[in-house]
Amino acid sequence: MANYQLQRGTYDAYYEDALNIEKIVSILKRISKSYGYAPIHTPMYEQTALFARSAGETSDIVTKEMFNFLDKSGRDICLRPELTAGVMRAIVTNKLYATKDLPLKLSYYGSAFRYERPQAGRYRQFNQFGIENVGATSYLNDAETIIFGYNSLRILGFPHIILKINSIGDEESRNAYRTALKEFFQNKIENMCPDCKRRFETNPLRILDCKVKEDQEIIKGAPKMSDYLNEQSKEYLNNILKVLDEQGVEYEIDDTLVRGLDYYSHVVFEYHFITENGTSLGAVGAGGHYDNLLREVGGPQLSSVGLAFGVERLNLLLKEINPEEYAKVELDAYLICLGKENLDKVFSLCTTLRNNGFNVDMSFENKSMGASFKIATRKNAKFALIIGENEIANNIVKLKDLNTQEQCDVSLENLVEVLDEKLVD
Ligand code: AMP
Repeated sequence: MANYQLQRGTYDAYYEDALNIEKIVSILKRISKSYGYAPIHTPMYEQTALFARSAGETSDIVTKEMFNFLDKSGRDICLRPELTAGVMRAIVTNKLYATKDLPLKLSYYGSAFRYERPQAGRYRQFNQFGIENVGATSYLNDAETIIFGYNSLRILGFPHIILKINSIGDEESRNAYRTALKEFFQNKIENMCPDCKRRFETNPLRILDCKVKEDQEIIKGAPKMSDYLNEQSKEYLNNILKVLDEQGVEYEIDDTLVRGLDYYSHVVFEYHFITENGTSLGAVGAGGHYDNLLREVGGPQLSSVGLAFGVERLNLLLKEINPEEYAKVELDAYLICLGKENLDKVFSLCTTLRNNGFNVDMSFENKSMGASFKIATRKNAKFALIIGENEIANNIVKLKDLNTQEQCDVSLENLVEVLDEKLVD
């Protein structure tokens, strides 16, 4: 017998878990709409070169984590490691920058793929919900994006949020900082991890991202980005922080936050959460400002800002924080048909109720009353509707509240109205 295994780093979600993921996404879609974002759908795979170019040749994503392969015609294809690059490509392909008002305000949802070492909240296929502001001319675009993320997390049910913000400045500031970092690590890099050695050569800013304990001790003494920001970069950051203060958004400045992708400039940020039991899954969402990405993929230079949430991480944490708020797979009513000969009639009633917007189900098998009640309870039905010979003859149903066990007769004519009233209670 074949025994097909779930692939490493992937997961199956079903019932409550799948329902909750859908609930999270629908809440995020609704909130993004209220901020004026329009959805964009792009393919799950693109040319590998697009990601190499956009994420940066030296990023972990490109050097270690790409899910790429040659297709049957020999094209180098990559399952997207994130959605921003594909969105930029789509903006160029469809010339959205010329045909729609700027800033383009786009929201997306879909799977991303990274060949990472799986662990809690880290998968090889995962889902991101994100937004992009393309053609952003004001620090208010950055503030709006950060506030969107913060408020979304509050609405989803996070009681508090750790929002970490840093500025990696404009190009001039970053170049000055890179030089300072090189000087600092020059005589220390020998004793650091192989990844840091590589980063020292390719992009010393990334060393700050290192998770190796011994390296972190060394990193603590490194120069701070904030000391290398030029006046313009400082002013840009301060303008954003002022808006956040005014809106009551709490944040902390984290000097070590540089983010894994090459394309950021100015402000970068991450949202974290730690549960009462100490569960922390890393960032639940992250984003930043980027100036050159659209140009890198063949479009005009347009300043932009965006963020992405990891939907699985949101789901895992919300399950722990608010188990009672977790969506249940349930029914408004379960129809119980007594007598095989009445199945067609009860099915017809079932359809009518569905057409009126109720969530109802029934069995097409001739089951005993006791067995049917058990199914209704397992399916979390709020009501049972019992229909037998007598009910059909009198154009009624027996309606039983499965919580209180109260039962009454309701005429078919009034059923929709009565159910509506009872479900509101
Ligand atoms: P990034 O594009 O790396 O900034 O990721 C944005 C968000 O996606 C992160 O804050 C995480 O919540 C989520 N995320 C990133 N990588 C993974 C992964 N391998 N598995 C699950 N979620 C992830």
